[in-house]
Amino acid sequence: MACDLIIYNGIVLMVNDHFEIIKNGIICIQGDRIESAGHWDKNCPIPPAREYIDAEGGIVMPGLVNIHTHLPMTLFRGLADDLPLDVWLNKHIFPAEAAHINQDSVYASALLACAEMILSGTTTCCDGYFLENFVAEAVHRAGIRAVLGQGVIDFPAPGVPNPSDNLAYAENFVQKWKGKSELIQPSIFCHSPYTCSGETLKAAQSLAESLGVLFQIHVAETRWEADQMRSKYGFSPVGYLDHLGILDRHTLMVHGVWMDDRDIDIIAARGSGMAHNPESNMKLASGVAPIPACLKAGIPVGLGTDGCASNNNLDMFDEMDAAAKLHKTFACDPTIMNARTVVRMATLDGARAIGLDHLIGSIEPGKQADMIVLSADRPNRIPLFHPESYVVYAAGASDVRDAVIAGRIVMKNRKLTCLNLHEIYAGIAPLQTAIKQGLK
Ligand SMILES: [Zn+2]
Repeated sequence: MACDLIIYNGIVLMVNDHFEIIKNGIICIQGDRIESAGHWDKNCPIPPAREYIDAEGGIVMPGLVNIHTHLPMTLFRGLADDLPLDVWLNKHIFPAEAAHINQDSVYASALLACAEMILSGTTTCCDGYFLENFVAEAVHRAGIRAVLGQGVIDFPAPGVPNPSDNLAYAENFVQKWKGKSELIQPSIFCHSPYTCSGETLKAAQSLAESLGVLFQIHVAETRWEADQMRSKYGFSPVGYLDHLGILDRHTLMVHGVWMDDRDIDIIAARGSGMAHNPESNMKLASGVAPIPACLKAGIPVGLGTDGCASNNNLDMFDEMDAAAKLHKTFACDPTIMNARTVVRMATLDGARAIGLDHLIGSIEPGKQADMIVLSADRPNRIPLFHPESYVVYAAGASDVRDAVIAGRIVMKNRKLTCLNLHEIYAGIAPLQTAIKQGLK
């Protein structure tokens, strides 16, 4: 039987258990799945297929998995930089959201985010925002894989003016999208332990549990938050969530900057995942998350860009580079975070943290065909000794040539096949004008 798509003539980073690298590989894809992946003998003919991608000596690897972002915040890229988190959030971001976030702006800016992600090699994202229905519509149109969390917060929010409607709104969102698309998994995202009451947190988590979806929450992002939790409840932020009984293996904790060894032990014992966002943490000067200790404790840790207001892009190559270098610098130890560990965090470990590792994160027969091809014809690629070193320290978003999600080519030779950039920019232009007018 002919394959639907064959990718051949590339150096394949499988990102499997042994971090196997095939020097000259061939991957056969049937429908949305990987049928086989192995060595290609150039003397043998290429099997018949409906479509081919000749990697031309480039690197083929699993699509990148961005496990923490807020897609519509592309709209606020560069709106307010160089500020402390509380000032940034309360004086700039929350007011901008109140004034400019509606279903149309969420859709337009999420679509912009999808284009940026595909062009930079991300094939799966894990998001949380308000009006998540419209994020889902954009993601659905773009053909990107995503876990999408409807935001829950104890304040009036876009789409949910009365916070007491939060859970009903989140439940509607999950019911609407559960099983609707192979690529979209709905989720519930509580903003944080300091913007949601204990009752809200418990109710939202038990709702997520009863619906069988991922529960996401920002936790221990700043020293202020950690101090506040200790003085108010007598617990660390992680200890407080555990005291509420809401941590389990279907929980994704985001940031985890202010944690001690006891917190790490709690998370490891509960089996929760962790999203590490080094660029956002650096830009907001939140601190350095103890990620090497989390990895040592066996916690599944993935990388996230966070929203574009605190990064200011969705580029996972930047994030990989930052993750590797931040921990080396902080520990004064160049061995503490090596390139393989970082590639794993950006792919398979990230997928594990959001409960999708049975589907994605590595190139293995039976898994979903989500992968990218990095061009061989780039000065920063030459010479090549260790592919994972190139990916983490030398490659950039523009080196991604092709992208495939669930067996479908979503970018070929840097051209998006399912999105029109001019149309997307035209959708953002009036929103940018309105935000600028508000700044005057
Ligand atoms: Zn965030």
